[in-house]
Amino acid sequence: MSFLSKLVILFLPVVALTVTAQLLVMPVSTASPEVMTVVIDAGHGGIDGGVSGVTSGVKESDINLDAAKRLKRMFKATGVNVVMTRETSAGLYGTLSSGFKVRDLSKRVEIAKEVNADVFVSVHMNKYSDPSRRGAQVFFAADNQKSEQLAECVQKSLNEMPSSVRECSALVGDYYVLNNAPCPAIICEYGFLSNPEDEKLLLDGDYLEKLSYAVFSGVIEYLSSF
Ligand SMILES: [Zn+2]
Repeated sequence: MSFLSKLVILFLPVVALTVTAQLLVMPVSTASPEVMTVVIDAGHGGIDGGVSGVTSGVKESDINLDAAKRLKRMFKATGVNVVMTRETSAGLYGTLSSGFKVRDLSKRVEIAKEVNADVFVSVHMNKYSDPSRRGAQVFFAADNQKSEQLAECVQKSLNEMPSSVRECSALVGDYYVLNNAPCPAIICEYGFLSNPEDEKLLLDGDYLEKLSYAVFSGVIEYLSSF
C-alpha cells in the first residue's frame, strides 16, 4: 500500500467525522443558527476524589478532569457548543457541610438544565472488587430510549478501538445524574483504576486521548442520527 493511500485511510474517518460534526451546527434561520450543546461532566472533585489508582494512588477526579478537557477540545473543534460542569479540581458542592454530595450532583444536573443541553456526558473511572476486571463501560438510565441509543453509540465506538481491552455492552445504571438529566445522558467509565494494567493505560496521555476520541466519535454519531 502506498504511503498516500495509508494517509487517506488514516485520515478519512477524521475528515468524515469533522464534516458530520459541522452539520450539527444547523442554521434554523439565517439570523439564529442553532448549535448543539454538549455538557461534559468531569466526575467528583474537591474533597471527593472518587476512586484511587491501585498502584499509583492517583485520584479519579484528576483523570476525569484531564479526559473531560480532551473531550472539550474535540467538540469545540467541530463547532459544537461545550459546557463543562467543572474546569478546576474543586467540587461543585459549595461549602463542605452535610449533604455536600447531593448538592454536588444536583449542581451538575442544574447546569445541564440551564444551558438547555442536547447531550450530557459524565466522565468517570471505574473500580471493582475483582481486580482482574478491565475495560471501558458506558451506563444509561433505565427506560430512557434516547440515552440508551447514545450509550450504545459510545460503547460501540469504545469497543471498536484497536487498543480496546475488552468488549462491553452498554448497561443500565441507577445514578443521580442519569436519572435527573434533562437530556440524553451517559456515564462513561473509561477503565478500572482497581486493575494495574488499566490504571497504567489511564495514566498514559496518548491512551486517554484515544479513549476520549472514541467517546467523542460515538456522541457525534448519535447526534448525527437526527
Ligand atoms: Zn466516579
